[in-house]
Order: sequence, then structure tokens, then C-alpha cells
Amino acid sequence: MKNLTTLKNMRDVINPATGEVVGAVPAGNEEDVRAAVDLASGAFGQWSLLPPGERGKILFKGAYFVREKLGDLAALLTSEQGKPLGEAKNEIMGFANVLEYYSSISGTIHGDAFPKTGYGYSFTTKTPLGVCGAIIPWNMPALIMAWKIGPALTAGNTMVLKPATTTPLTNLALADILVKAGLPEGVLNIVTGSGEVVGEEIVRHPEIKKISFTGAVETGKHIAALASGELKRVTLELGGSDPMIVCKDADIEKAVAGALNGRFYNCGQTCTAVKRLYLSSAISDEFIKLLTHRVSALKIGNGFQKGVNIGPLHSSAGRDEISGLVRDALLNYDCTLLSGGKIPDGNEYKNGFFYEPTVLTDVPDDCPLVNREVFGPVLPVMVFDTLNEAIEMANRTEYGLGASVWTKDLTTAASACEALDAGIVWVNQHLKIPPDLPFGGEKASGVGRENGYRALDRYLKEKTILVAL
Ligand code: NAP
Ligand code: MG
Repeated sequence: MKNLTTLKNMRDVINPATGEVVGAVPAGNEEDVRAAVDLASGAFGQWSLLPPGERGKILFKGAYFVREKLGDLAALLTSEQGKPLGEAKNEIMGFANVLEYYSSISGTIHGDAFPKTGYGYSFTTKTPLGVCGAIIPWNMPALIMAWKIGPALTAGNTMVLKPATTTPLTNLALADILVKAGLPEGVLNIVTGSGEVVGEEIVRHPEIKKISFTGAVETGKHIAALASGELKRVTLELGGSDPMIVCKDADIEKAVAGALNGRFYNCGQTCTAVKRLYLSSAISDEFIKLLTHRVSALKIGNGFQKGVNIGPLHSSAGRDEISGLVRDALLNYDCTLLSGGKIPDGNEYKNGFFYEPTVLTDVPDDCPLVNREVFGPVLPVMVFDTLNEAIEMANRTEYGLGASVWTKDLTTAASACEALDAGIVWVNQHLKIPPDLPFGGEKASGVGRENGYRALDRYLKEKTILVAL
């Protein structure tokens, strides 16, 4: 795979646990995007004419090669993103899983045939769109890359992808492996550089037929507005503020483990993290006691260290934001701190962007900890008396990505599933996003869905053909 960007301006990639430079990539510009689009256009003809099953085989082999390099890729991801090595391994395996899934359904792409009528014979064809653009964030760079390239390439499109400025290395390494597995040059083109320069040129370029974006709500709105000039297809996977509702009959042990993993995985920087915890007043005291005990046992540190559960935040700006939100909650909203609430002491933390896993209660509705998306290891806990009250609070947000309800009662679960305004609702679990199920948000959390077999349709155009004989 060619790295298309000019080698003049390089930008360092930093390890968020140590502040050390772990690599450097070119800061690309508009010209680099245009060159990448030309390559992608050139590769489109041949790639789109391959039988879909042949494309699937290449992706499958790519996934196999990725699994073979699991250790190296996970280490690269930890070094630039900060997450614990075990989580990085999970994410790289997630990348392979997504490619294998799309490979497994590659042969299913087809149009429809209709009964002969007075119009004659009629049928539809489905063909790829052409060159597609993808713009991805830093929190799960490998997995989100797979969510874009899996369906786009399987459907026969070629792609220009922009990684986040701070996590380009894993994306570049994965793209190289796919080329080694047989992906023809020009099918997948990575252009490193900033959102304002490289990202906007991808959105504006007239040859790019579809934009698939994952990132913040404000960026998504800006991209949708820019893309409307060319009436491009747009998929937006944006932020979330997922509620987790624990009913009085829930399995408390399981729910505590779910809240812990749901909030603190990836140092709280997951779109579908548990960002608000609602506990039934019948079990709240017991739950909070167990939860704070478990939270204080979490091990903070460099993701390469054995036993570490919480790595650093990804950036110093991210950490400043989190510590500011906690300070504001304690000073101006009278919240009660149950655990954490500060930068950890100790020499090993001084060069990284660490923050203690934090739990607060007595958090009022208007506190930014509940009415904004909080992208870090901070969990606000609220108490409710009735399920209706919990659902009303859970839905009182501009977001609608995920939500979970924890109960042993089927009727309670069913009514919560219906009433929660979210793109995905879990019962007795949170966070799981399998490649074969549709994923995406309602309200400010996005437009469209990724994953599942229907994601292929979002990278295909349908033509209706009527034949009179
Ligand atoms: P972000 O600032 O929107 O950045 C995401 C990507 O967009 C980066 O590659 C960024 O480039 C690029 N970008 C920034 N401004 C742009 C512009 N004007 N035009 C084109 N591209 C532009 O998001 P973030 O803060 O890094 O990521 C965290 C957000 O992503 C959270 O809100 C999180 O919930 C959301 N997220 C959603 C999902 C989901 O599937 N729903 C999954 C994961 C994350 P730079 O390199 O310059 O930053
Ligand atoms: Mg940003």
C-alpha cells in the first residue's frame, strides 16, 4: 500500500501513557486526497467487476493475516491509543471478526426479480457506488475502520480513509496487511492528516459518492452540511450518553460487573459506554457499596503493564475536560464523590494523561455529568422509585445510541425495550456490538446504521429495469 502523503510535514504520534513519541506520519493536504481519489477511481473498475465472493476471499485472508500479527498490532494500538493490551487485542480481533463476517456474506449480494406483469419483466440490479470516503476517530480506530471497509469493499467500492490524527499507525499497519493478503493497490487508500484539511477535502471531493463518518456530534453536523452540497450519501455514527437501568430484581453481582465494564472499558472513551447509571432505590445502597469497592480495586497504569484495567485518557485535553467536569459537579452541583475524582499520585503517572476511575452520586439533572456526553472514566449514579420514572430520566437526553435494562422479569424488560429511545437496547448486558447486528443511533447519535447484512445496501445503488417484450 502506498502512503500517498508528501513526506515534507511529519506529525508525531504520542504514547498517552508516557508522552513518548512512538511514530510520525505525514500531515496530508488536499492534494494528497485528490491523488488518493484518483488511485481509488483507477482501481474501481477491476475491483467492482470481481465476483463478490472473490472480494470476500481477499478480506478473509486479510483477517487471517491480522490474527497472525495480533500481538504486534495490539502493541501498536496500545502505544498510540493508550488502552490496556488485553483490550487492544480484543479490538484487533474485532477488526478480523468484522472482515470475516462480511467475507462470509459476500456471495449474497443480489437484486430482486418480480413477477411478469403488464409492464413486462422487471428486476433490480445492485452495483457499487464508486469511491467512498471514511473518517474515523481515535477511540476504537481498528474496529471502526473495519465497520467502514468491511461492507464498502465487499460491495465492490474503493475507499479513501482518514484516520484520527492521533491514532494513524494501527490503521496504516492494517491497510498494509490487507495489501499483503491480495487487496489490489488503490482499493483502500489511507490519507493521514487533520480533519479540517484532509477530512473536509474527502467530504467535498465530487468523485467521492458516500461519506461514512464516526466521531463527535458537532463534526457530524458540519460534515452533513458540507456533503449536502453534492447530495452525497452520508452515514453518521456520533456520540452517546447511554443509560443503564438496574431494576430491583436484577442480578446485582452481574449488574455491578456490567456497570464496571460498561463505564470503564477503554478508560470510559467508548461511544456506547454506560454514561448514566440509574438504580432502583430498593437495591441502590447495596449496589453502590459493591460498585465503589470494585472501582477502587481497579488498577490504573500503562496499558503494557500486567493487570492494568485503566489506561490513560487519550489526550491531555480529554483529561482536562474530565477533571473540569468533576470539579464543577462537586463545586456547583453538590454531588457526592464516592470514589476517585483526581489525577492519581505517583511518579509512574506523571508523564501520562491518567485520571482515577470516578463514581459520584446525588447528581442533579442539570449537571453536565448527566446532560452531556462524558468521554472518560466518570460514572454518575442516580436513584429511581418506578420504572417509568427511570425511563423518563433515561430518555431525557439529546442522544439515542444505546441503553440497557437489568432485570429478571420479562415484562419489565419488554416494556423498557419498547420505551427506551435508542438504536440498541441490551437486556442484562451492555456494550456488546456484534458485526452481524445493525448498529447506530437515534436523535443526535446519528443517521443510518452500520454492521449487519443490510450495511452492504448502504454501499450499493439499486436500479430498476423494466423489459417489455
Ligand atoms: P471528532 O473530533 O469528531 O473526530 C473524528 C474524526 O473526524 C477525526 O478523524 C477528525 O480528525 C475528523 N474531523 C474533525 N473535524 C473534521 C472536519 N471539519 N471535517 C472532516 N473531518 C473532521 O471526534 P473525536 O472527539 O475524536 O471522537 C470522539 C467522538 O466519537 C465521541 O463523541 C464518540 O461518542 C464518538 N464515537 C461514536 C461512535 C459510534 O459508532 N456512534 C463510535 C466511536 C466514537 P482529527 O484527526 O483532526 O481529529
Ligand atoms: Mg475532536
